[in-house]
Amino acid sequence: MLGEVRNVTVSQSGGKWFASIQTQREVDVPLPTATSAIGVDVGIARFATLSDGSHIAPLNSFKKHEKRLARYQRRMARKKKFSRNWKKAKARVQKLHTDIANARKDFLHKASATISKNHALVCIEDLQVLNMSKSARGTIEAPGKNVRAKAALNKAILDQGWGEFRRQLEYKMAWSGGMLLAVPAHNTSRTCPCCAHVAKENRKTQARFACVSCGYKNHADIVGAINILERGQRLLACADSSPEVRASWQEPAEATTW
Ligand SMILES: [Zn+2]
Repeated sequence: MLGEVRNVTVSQSGGKWFASIQTQREVDVPLPTATSAIGVDVGIARFATLSDGSHIAPLNSFKKHEKRLARYQRRMARKKKFSRNWKKAKARVQKLHTDIANARKDFLHKASATISKNHALVCIEDLQVLNMSKSARGTIEAPGKNVRAKAALNKAILDQGWGEFRRQLEYKMAWSGGMLLAVPAHNTSRTCPCCAHVAKENRKTQARFACVSCGYKNHADIVGAINILERGQRLLACADSSPEVRASWQEPAEATTW
């Protein structure tokens, strides 16, 4: 183990015990080995679309397991509480929850590792995931519109783990000496990357972008990712003066956690 032990936490999850050991040590500022810059657009149909045209399919770990989970929960409800069979059924439900959480963690780590390894600059939309997932229900005075549709979207957002994805990208970019840059999100899906014409009509469907001014066509998510990258590079070019830049540029972490 490297460094000085700062803190040890023992926890229990899914019937297993875990010990996390936090240590502290000095590290040199790493130099990024990658030199390229990439824009990343996150979405429901595709978890992440990159400005180079590639994409990562969604995991939807919860959706996939949802039916099975409901079945196990019904079974558990039919058993006599605290009986042997009830305990068995309960263990199955808990195991499934653990499997779902592990599958999601694994997916997010692989996705963030691939992106941070291959690029020195990663630009993403400043989506404020938490605000998006809180807003659907509204308040008693001002109930949210389309609550059902938004609730479904929220569930997808949380299931996709965009917030966690961003957190991982942030520290992994810092590890490799790279930089994660969050750019303002307005109109990234409506702006033509070719002629810069902004129109709602440019976005024909969820997936199709066709500029009404110059005729440029591409997948709408790729267009989003190209615009995010372009915006990030523009912000960097006039960096220190622009208050809009919300760089997630971090000093290399002093503490390393396993
Ligand atoms: Zn155009």
